[in-house]
Amino acid sequence: MENSHLHFNTSIGVQKPENIRNKDQACPFCERDQLTNLIAVDEPIILLKNKYPVLEHTFQTVLIETDDCHGELSIYSKEHLHKLMRFGIKHWLDMEATGCYQSVIFFKNHGPLSGGTLSHPHMQIIGLDDIDYKEKVTHEMFEGIVIAEEEGVRFTLSTKPRVGFYEFNVEMDDSGYQERFSDYLQTAVHYILNNFPFKATSYNLFFHHIENKIYAKVVSRFVTTPLYIGYGIPQVPSNLEWMAGELQRIYFKE
Ligand SMILES: [Zn+2]
Repeated sequence: MENSHLHFNTSIGVQKPENIRNKDQACPFCERDQLTNLIAVDEPIILLKNKYPVLEHTFQTVLIETDDCHGELSIYSKEHLHKLMRFGIKHWLDMEATGCYQSVIFFKNHGPLSGGTLSHPHMQIIGLDDIDYKEKVTHEMFEGIVIAEEEGVRFTLSTKPRVGFYEFNVEMDDSGYQERFSDYLQTAVHYILNNFPFKATSYNLFFHHIENKIYAKVVSRFVTTPLYIGYGIPQVPSNLEWMAGELQRIYFKE
């Protein structure tokens, strides 16, 4: 049976630790010997079952990216970045290939406006029993101004953003891992956190597997516009060409 909504279990939700706003709360991902229900480990990366599975009819896992509580994707060494992304993409596609789920989502929250609750760098892979995220996806969500393109991997700034304003897209074939894919992801995140025209503290990564392509959407997060909340109308800013040029100037000029 298909479902249109994810059901959030509020009695589990209230038990969930939170330290993005409350910095005094101890970090559960730093107490590595206390972690249970591990699924796969490639030190220092750990995939485990989520201890607080708030979403009903799902299988929720957490991918702890590093043992450094203050690490962040934009500052990882290339070696760690690729080890992490190979691991994450592999386990996401493996879960999808089991056929046990209607679809499997893979995403990351970072910063106070991202919807995340723990600041220790992590991502999530969630198998959805009765929702197919792909039904809500269109190709135009991943189209945009090309910032860089190499070895079949493309990095764009959305001209038809899904929610609005600044959404970066990176795409590659699903036939094999390409380092360039994660290099572009890292560049997008670095730009958002360091060189954005407005002060930005938060972003999300959303991975999609559609018709032999893997797409990552990197979304800078601010307060969501009322026109989207109220009417579902996404907005496109008028300075996209300028921003794409800025990224090329800062990151791709030799
Ligand atoms: Zn930590």
